[in-house]
Amino acid sequence: MSLPSSRGKSSSFYERWVDVYEQAYRNPGNLDSVVCPHCGRLALNLIFIVDVPGETRSTFVFWCAACLGGLPPNRTRTPLHALPVFRGTEHVPNYELVVDEPGAS
Ligand SMILES: [Zn+2]
Repeated sequence: MSLPSSRGKSSSFYERWVDVYEQAYRNPGNLDSVVCPHCGRLALNLIFIVDVPGETRSTFVFWCAACLGGLPPNRTRTPLHALPVFRGTEHVPNYELVVDEPGAS
């Protein structure tokens, strides 16, 4: 997941979420040191939802349990050290999606 940074402005709220997601993705078993880009709390959750055991691709869901914001779920490659969750057994709150700001130039 990478974003073009051609707008010449400092990173947007969305981009900060993506940065934090990438940190979490690299080490999904240890979110204790990754703070929420919105509220600054240590309350982030990152899960990888799979349909069948052993699937190498999954749907990630990344949200903050404190302020209930997060990235829109998307398909990704499941990290090797992640513990996937089977679809239907996930516990995800109804959080607010952080989306890229359209047309800010
Ligand atoms: Zn938060």
